[in-house]
Amino acid sequence: CGIVGYVGGQSALDVVITGLKRLEYRGYDSAGVAVLADGGLASAKKAGKLANLEKLLDERPLPAGLAGLGHTRWATHGGPTDANAHPHLDNAGRVAVVHNGIIENFAALRAELAERGHDLLSETDTEVVSHLLAEAYSSTGDLAEAMRQVCVRLEGAFTLVAVHADEPDVVVGARRNSPLVVGVGDGENFLASDVAAFIAYTRDAIELGQDQVVELRREGVTVTDFEGKPADVRPYHIDWDASA
Ligand code: GLU
Repeated sequence: CGIVGYVGGQSALDVVITGLKRLEYRGYDSAGVAVLADGGLASAKKAGKLANLEKLLDERPLPAGLAGLGHTRWATHGGPTDANAHPHLDNAGRVAVVHNGIIENFAALRAELAERGHDLLSETDTEVVSHLLAEAYSSTGDLAEAMRQVCVRLEGAFTLVAVHADEPDVVVGARRNSPLVVGVGDGENFLASDVAAFIAYTRDAIELGQDQVVELRREGVTVTDFEGKPADVRPYHIDWDASA
């Protein structure tokens, strides 16, 4: 029900957890995070309140990381269990993806992936995306391009945010029929389903349009359509008082 992504000079884990707290009011049944650090990907997820996830992180700390993502889930496919919580990974543990919405054609994609030897570990519609991204990344070597190739195969409504351990300074997002906003900072950039998640850090934002993919790096953001054509972006300043 809420999504946060971050790349920059602060602890990605702290920024993501702070952002998820700002989205708590939307309601959710599970939460999870993933960070890129030390050439790898580390993640944690837990059913229930964010406090449950924070307790898990106290017991089994993750590296702070300079890029990461987080999710609060409102279950639509598969019950509110730890295994169904996001992020979902590929079998090599190199890709992490979070999703709000519904992938309508997930059953066909699951069957296709199982046939190719993928081992799906949850009951969600979402998990097909991490496996498809891993495959697309192995042929493209570019996470944003992999995301574009996967998005055209998906039906339904989605906000997706993903990271890959081989691109430790990149966070990629995509949207169709579901919101995603970029927060533009100085040497850091944010992604969220709602500006409330990053307004404590920046008030410069870009609203993503329908069927667009964004590649987030510390020094800038690149937005394209699903075919890879550069998209017109509409930057704006959030001038309402968000502290109320
Ligand atoms: N359909 C996905 C799931 O059930 C995402 C739900 C959401 O929007 O949080 O896991």
